[in-house]
Amino acid sequence: MTEAKLIDGNVFSANLRDRITQRVAFLRDHHHVTPGLAVVLVGEDPASQVYVRMKHKRTVECGMRSFEHKMAADITEHELLTLIAGLNDDAEVHGILVQLPLPKHIDAQKVIEAIRPDKDVDGFHPWNVGMLASGGEGMVPCTPLGCLMMLKDHLGDLTGLNAVVLGRSNIVGKPMALLLIKESCTVTVAHSKTRDLPAVVRAADIVVAAVGRPLMVKGDWIKPGATVIDVGINRVDLEGGKTKLVGDVDFESARTVAGAITPVPGGVGPMTIACLLRNALVAAARLHRLHVPEAEGKV
Ligand code: NDP
Repeated sequence: MTEAKLIDGNVFSANLRDRITQRVAFLRDHHHVTPGLAVVLVGEDPASQVYVRMKHKRTVECGMRSFEHKMAADITEHELLTLIAGLNDDAEVHGILVQLPLPKHIDAQKVIEAIRPDKDVDGFHPWNVGMLASGGEGMVPCTPLGCLMMLKDHLGDLTGLNAVVLGRSNIVGKPMALLLIKESCTVTVAHSKTRDLPAVVRAADIVVAAVGRPLMVKGDWIKPGATVIDVGINRVDLEGGKTKLVGDVDFESARTVAGAITPVPGGVGPMTIACLLRNALVAAARLHRLHVPEAEGKV
């Protein structure tokens, strides 16, 4: 029985954060620019609070300025848009992230569209979506960017490989597919209406699973030697009232067939925050017309 190589997101993201820390120090010491990231949290969703705390910690660790804006759940849409307008105009803020989901009375799309595209470190603004679709250099959404970095690190040139992306959401599936097209992969995007999903997955050299269905992708769906990136984060109940995080891929069966695989936790998850920091660095460099390799679109 072969055993897949483990693609360790903790190690990979720590290395990426080290590189970002060096670039931040370079911008500060040589150009008197300290990248600043503003994170806006509305309400008290426990998962969002954990993410925002971790983002703040990592931002400060790599030498950037972190601006946290914690707003009450009953903030009006107008008040939130006013806050964003202020951040758009604030010269110390280079990146703006509004933690999703937002309360139901606020139109999330309107909020995303209020962020200046060049400060939109999530890459969700329609301008950045369009830049990615047309092959330009906008802001790339963090999770798919992290997946691509790990794929390129493991496989090198992706040209001509068959890639299957499971999921077609705006934040993971669609941008992931666009990034893989840009790398000259042959890309299939599967979703809940796809027929004979196992057969579709079996044709893939690269599988990116982003469906939010615990352990859905089985080992016998995987082509021997394929590279499997598991984006899914699903909390499942265990006996005795405990819970556990699992991915969308049945890791135990897939690792005996795949060539390489990301674990959950410790795979894609840590890369998402590292890529957020990367995007904040890119935003700062571009806003000040300074050179860092990441700002020229290098992955
Ligand atoms: P969405 O719910 O927005 O999208 C899920 C996609 O999966 C949809 O396109 C849906 O198809 C498809 N899908 C659902 N069920 C099936 C099925 N049975 N067969 C085939 N396709 C199916 O989820 P997200 O893209 O936001 O997130 C996906 C997963 O990734 C989640 O587990 C989420 O927690 C995780 N995630 C992890 C991140 C990280 O940092 N590691 C960041 C973001 C997300 P259809 O369009 O037809 O409904």
